Amino acid sequence: MEDNFDTLMTCIVKEKPEVGLKLTKKKIPSNLESHEVLIKVNYTSVCGTDYHIYVYDDWAKKRLKLPFTAGHEFSGEVVKLGSEVTRVEIGDIVSAETHIICNTCEFCLRGDGHICENTKIIGVDTDGCFAEYVKIPAMNCFINSKDANPLHLSVQEPLGNAVHTMAHFPIEGKDVVITGCGPIGLMGVNVAKAYKAKKIIAVEVNEYRLKLAKELGADVVINPLKEDVVARVLEETGGRGADVVGEFSGNKHAIEQAFEYVKAGGGLSLLGIPSKDIEIDLAKLIVFKGLHIYGVVGRRIYETWYQVKDLVDNNMLDFDKIITHTFKLTEYQKAMDLMATGNCGKIVLIPGDE
Ligand code: NAD
Ligand code: ZN
Repeated sequence: MEDNFDTLMTCIVKEKPEVGLKLTKKKIPSNLESHEVLIKVNYTSVCGTDYHIYVYDDWAKKRLKLPFTAGHEFSGEVVKLGSEVTRVEIGDIVSAETHIICNTCEFCLRGDGHICENTKIIGVDTDGCFAEYVKIPAMNCFINSKDANPLHLSVQEPLGNAVHTMAHFPIEGKDVVITGCGPIGLMGVNVAKAYKAKKIIAVEVNEYRLKLAKELGADVVINPLKEDVVARVLEETGGRGADVVGEFSGNKHAIEQAFEYVKAGGGLSLLGIPSKDIEIDLAKLIVFKGLHIYGVVGRRIYETWYQVKDLVDNNMLDFDKIITHTFKLTEYQKAMDLMATGNCGKIVLIPGDE
């Protein structure tokens, strides 16, 4: 590998406090601190967060410090090492845990780094991977199997969200509901199938995504715009409700309904982020139901990643259906327009070769 990174690279930057992103050139970030590595990005997938950054919604206005390079989900090859890096090598094919954690707070020290109180996020708080190269702390690299498909490897971070959500409560042989079949919920459906759930019920308002959910393993699909979700889930589960619900919609109504149709003693894993307060009868729907509730933040570092690797290395998932579109990085606008319609699963961008 030639050690000359003195040239410019193409990248997608959030520059101004308005709708949009900008295709531009920047110097390759080859000035590494001792704990950092430089990675040549092979594939980078588009997250809902990138879309929030693109439209510059209320969350983005409050959270972001401009300008910065967007993007955080990727697979790539390590091309340069900081002076003290020993845990990865040049040539390693890596993906990134996007939460940069402090490793010193109470949560990190007790092994719960996913809820670190000092978390910074790649592509939100630091320059991200919608670029030909990205630099990240070596600690954030997850080393992939060399023979795995690099396109598939690029979606492991959101896949980790889906695995974290679906693996918290045992689902083998159980009736499982997945609410919200956006890219992550769709992966949740596929993960539930891989983990041998007995019956997988997918709830989603978008017909394109419902169809994908079916192809990815849902036995039953419910469109809340057409059916009474609570009644239908109870009917499909012998009247007692679902053993486990994975919530991936963030929709107030969908979340409130989940508390109704989850079985007594069952598990509710919440990943979706609602923008409105949730109103439920807590005594009836949580206390007297003996309900288990789990809030899902990111991925367990690195426990979830090894679960993901297992699914990837053993070909247990249908990535060809999970990834519905690929575009060149320079065509990012097409990806944003498509995300606005909701008629997509995961979209992957490919840097290089303009
Ligand atoms: P997304 O917005 O693409 O998917 C949400 C899906 O829910 C959409 O397909 C939408 O049509 C569907 N939906 C809307 N109303 C519904 C209803 N009433 N019933 C059923 N489905 C409904 O989002 P995504 O990228 O797949 O992410 C899923 C959720 O997880 C989002 O809320 C996101 O903010 C959140 N998230 C959380 C974390 C975390 O660490 N907790 C990480 C990543 C994403
Ligand atoms: Zn911490």
